[in-house]
Amino acid sequence: MTQSKHNETKVLQRFIAVYCRHHHESKGDSLCPDCADLQAYALGRLAKCPLDPKPKCKKCPIHCYKPEYQQKIREVMKFSGIHFVKRGRVDWLVKYFLS
Ligand code: SF4
Ligand SMILES: [Zn+2]
Repeated sequence: MTQSKHNETKVLQRFIAVYCRHHHESKGDSLCPDCADLQAYALGRLAKCPLDPKPKCKKCPIHCYKPEYQQKIREVMKFSGIHFVKRGRVDWLVKYFLS
């Protein structure tokens, strides 16, 4: 796995965990069935991404996600992005988004 895919995997996991904790009362890093499904889908897409170097999915010309998953992941990224910024956890976000 490339470093950028490795970073993206971590970001996806952290963002989905935070979203799930706030919306579905899950604990720690455990996920509700819906979010576990979304995570499995997103990590599957990431693993199979044909682009090299891989752009951020947001800027991708292909958009390989099914529409319902694309909508869900956008909601997760928006909520959790704001969550981390509010808590001053921009250090690793900046590292990820500038990588
Ligand atoms: S949306 Fe684009 S960049 Fe993201 S995984 Fe799919 S093909 Fe790759
Ligand atoms: Zn959930």
